[in-house]
Amino acid sequence: MIAMNNEHPLHLMTDQDKAMETSIKDVFPNTVHRCCKWHVQRKAREKLGRILSMDEIFEQVFYGVINDSEMVDEFEENWQHMLHCFDLVDNRHLSNMWRTRETWAPAYFRKNFFPFTSTTGRSEGLNSYFKTFVNPQDSVWRFVQQYEVLQETMLDREDNQAFIGHATTAPLYSRYNFERQAVHFYTRSVFLKFQKEVMASTGFLMNLAPALDNASVRFELHSNYFENPRIFSVNVVLAEEKFECSCNCFEMNGIICAHIIRVMVHLNVQKNPQRYMLERWSEAATTAMSSGGCLLDFGHPATNTLKYNALCRKYTWLASQACSNDLAYKIMNDAAHQLEPLIAAAKQGALQEQQEANQQQATQQQQQTPEPTTVSQPDGDAMLQNPARVPKKGVRLKNQRGERLCLSNGKMHIRTMLRKMKRSKPSPEENLDQRRKRLLARTTTKKVTVSKHAST
Ligand SMILES: [Zn+2]
Repeated sequence: MIAMNNEHPLHLMTDQDKAMETSIKDVFPNTVHRCCKWHVQRKAREKLGRILSMDEIFEQVFYGVINDSEMVDEFEENWQHMLHCFDLVDNRHLSNMWRTRETWAPAYFRKNFFPFTSTTGRSEGLNSYFKTFVNPQDSVWRFVQQYEVLQETMLDREDNQAFIGHATTAPLYSRYNFERQAVHFYTRSVFLKFQKEVMASTGFLMNLAPALDNASVRFELHSNYFENPRIFSVNVVLAEEKFECSCNCFEMNGIICAHIIRVMVHLNVQKNPQRYMLERWSEAATTAMSSGGCLLDFGHPATNTLKYNALCRKYTWLASQACSNDLAYKIMNDAAHQLEPLIAAAKQGALQEQQEANQQQATQQQQQTPEPTTVSQPDGDAMLQNPARVPKKGVRLKNQRGERLCLSNGKMHIRTMLRKMKRSKPSPEENLDQRRKRLLARTTTKKVTVSKHAST
């Protein structure tokens, strides 16, 4: 209610949950509550499955009565006719559906604004999408984090659509001025729905019918090829730019129907009257919403990915605004160039802090270890530092003169030395101590060569 400025919704759609139905009546007494048609039909398939599967004609009539009845009287008459024709007057589930018909049958909601849907599929789809981000065992903190990710992802999609709407223009089907007007006014998705109505308008024949009063004109339209026997009635008050169709498309969806478009062409109406151009479907309203935002504010993004997404969203929107004007492009381009050194300086500041921390750590290591350690300082924009030099592992041997023999891989050299001691045949005059001295001297001369091989 806070998000809606304490205004009650005009229309609400839910599944057939009794608790929600009761609560909505108590809390929103003036709200039109409707049950989702998809849930009603799914329940009907469960209860009437055997009848629907065995009688194909009944299945067609059943769904036809529900979906194609435009007037309440028409629906009620057709329903009762169906029950008697198929001998289903005593069917319990059909009786329940009849009793609750005013909560779900589309004929009762023809003049209520439930745009482009009679089901809760959109919210069900959102629920399903949300479940891909959050698991039941997640904590509340995890839920909030994932909600942030979900919001960013959905905003990215909207931004992509907004950019496509800004940067490209949908091809026109006709040369009618009201289609050209619509392409600049509606969002891309709504314009495509409007364009389908323009295309469908070419499929009707039109006759003048007796007017309801002196100020109005009435037309009756039927299909070109008479494949659909339905007749649509359009009442026009030209002085007030008022068009009303029996299909109630505008009342339900907020865009005019093919029948009104057909009549507008016949009457040489060049522009769609302002009352039929709903602000909520306009590109301007969508753009204002995305730039201002009535979204939950999570403050500074928590992760680099979220920061990247937030910046992309902001600068993509700016780019879509700036790309259509040379001066705006120059302003944004210059601003980007001015930002570059600032961002580099900010990053450098972070680097300096890191360097200071590394130097302190290196100093501590120098004080702790006798071996000198060298920390190479990065020059320029280098991000990586060489690791501190660590004394090599190995066996330290001393020769007869007390000189240390540092072998890069002492075990290997000792084994080699012992092997050579075994293989070398001692001369009669050479004792064991002399042999060891000779072999040690040979090993010492080969140390440099072995070390080079090891390092490569
Ligand atoms: Zn219509």
